[in-house]
Amino acid sequence: MMETKEWKVTEAPTCPHCRSVMEKMDARYLDWDSPYLWVCYNNECTLFKKGWNHMMETVGQLVSYRFMIHPQNGQAGVIPAFSPDYLKKNGKPANPNYSEE
Ligand SMILES: [Zn+2]
Repeated sequence: MMETKEWKVTEAPTCPHCRSVMEKMDARYLDWDSPYLWVCYNNECTLFKKGWNHMMETVGQLVSYRFMIHPQNGQAGVIPAFSPDYLKKNGKPANPNYSEE
C-alpha cells in the first residue's frame, strides 16, 4: 500500500467545469508519479466539449482533453483524450485527410 496520508486530494473531487464527480484513472504506467489521477469523465463537460473545437482549429486533430487533478499535490491540469465513444456516437470525423480505403 502506498502512503496517501500526505496527499492533497484522496477523495473524489468535483469538476469545476461541469460539477461532475471525478473518477480515478489508472496512471501506474504513465509519467505522473502517481498510481492514479482524478479525471472528469463526463462527456458533457464544458472543458471536454470545447476541447474538440479548439484542438481541431489549432492542430487539426480530433482530440480533446479532460480536466484532471493530481491526487498528491492537488494540482489541476488537463490530459489529452481521444474518445471512441464520441466517434461511435457521432460517426467518423469529417477529416479531409482521411480516406475510406
Ligand atoms: Zn468536467
